[in-house]
Order: sequence, then C-alpha cells, then structure tokens
Amino acid sequence: MIIAIDGPSGAGKSTVAKAVAKRLGFNCLDTGAMFRAVAWQALEDGASLDDAEALGAIARTHPVSFTHEPGDPSPAQVLMDGMDVTSAIRTARIDRSVSAVSAHPSVRAALLDQQRRIASEGDYVIEGRDIGTVVFPNADVKVFLTASDEARARRRAAQNEARGIGSTDLAEVLVDIRMRDEADESRAAAPLVQADDAVAVDSSDIFVDEVIDRICALAAERGSKA
Ligand code: C5P
Repeated sequence: MIIAIDGPSGAGKSTVAKAVAKRLGFNCLDTGAMFRAVAWQALEDGASLDDAEALGAIARTHPVSFTHEPGDPSPAQVLMDGMDVTSAIRTARIDRSVSAVSAHPSVRAALLDQQRRIASEGDYVIEGRDIGTVVFPNADVKVFLTASDEARARRRAAQNEARGIGSTDLAEVLVDIRMRDEADESRAAAPLVQADDAVAVDSSDIFVDEVIDRICALAAERGSKA
C-alpha cells in the first residue's frame, strides 16, 4: 500500500508521515530530503542552480539512500552517495536553494526513478509535493496536508530550534516558506498542487494526533491490515 502525503513546507508532513508509518508498520520516505541532498551536492560541486544538465547528472550519478534503526520506520540518516548529509541538508542555505534545483525536469526524472524503486520494496508512507499527482497517481490513500502560513512558520522555527539548524527567527522563516511555496506552486514540472482525489486536511487548528487518526482511518478503509 502507498499513502501519499503532499503539501507545502511546515504543514507537519514529516511528523505525521513518521507517526502513521509507525502505527501501521509501514516504511516512510521523505522525498524532500532527496531534493535537498541533490541541492547540497550541487552547492558542494559549485554547479550553477540554472544548469539543468549538470544538476540532472548529479541526481542521476549520486543516489540518495537512508539508514534505519531496527524497528523504526523513520530514517536515522540521509546518505548522498554514501556520505552522511542528515544535518547538512537542513541549513538555511539549502532551504533557499532547493526549489531552484527541484524545478528542473532532469532532476525530477532522476529522483522519480529512485522514489519508485525504493517504494517498490513494501508498504510506504511517502511525503512530498507531487507524490499523489505524479510519482504515485494510483496511491491507495492521498492526503493534501496544509496549515496557515503563520502556523507553518511557527512549527518550522520550533523545529529548527530543536534541531539546532536553520533560522529560528519567525519573520525570516515566514518569508522563506512563502518564497519556497511560491516557487514550488508555480514551476512547470510537477508543481505543488492538490490531486483531484486527495483528501485535504488543514492542520492549523487540530492536534497532530487527530491528523494521524484520520489518515490511519483512510488507510483502514482501503484495506490496511494495521
Ligand atoms: O519537504 P521539504 O521541505 O524538505 O522539501 C524541500 C524542497 O524539495 C521543496 O521545497 C520542493 O522544492 C522540493 N520537493 C519537490 N517534490 C517533492 C518533495 C520536495 O519538489 N516531492
């Protein structure tokens, strides 16, 4: 079974995806981490963020993988070509570069192949922007998770503080997520958009447990055994 959770940054996709995966005994795939890893490698290599060919080559030749602790569906580490980039992909510098990288069809095609290959290994909760529309249009459950800009900025700033990486300034984070939303929604290739058959969930004013319960109930309707 595939559960697709799409939506803008800071809507709570990661927290929800991990909790749903844990409850249902599924694996969890964070596709944003894959785009972030390609952006990280591009900056390392000094590649221009406009160079579709160079960025596509980076995505094709540097596979992204994840390590897991036994029994934990959420990845312990993100590896770029075997190198641990777990923290390096969460900096403000990557936040500001990743949408330019993810807009290139050459990059998306390379990662789409990797995403489909990874998810063919079992039951997955997959979070991203285009999972229900492009990567898995036949996903068993599709959720479009949103929240107000302010709620998302508050969460992202708190998350940055807890991780000790990225900006903790609310106004700065708000500007950043709005810029990233705008870039992700307006790009030509696989833009951030709600799939026609996705269930929209606004997490601004409800507890995260309620969101998790709702998604697990949708999965049960589609025949998940957990
Ligand atoms: O989810 P996260 O904020 O880590 O995603 C980082 C960026 O990766 C997004 O802003 C978007 O540009 C890109 N992305 C994407 N398609 C996905 C997942 C992420 O374009 N499926």
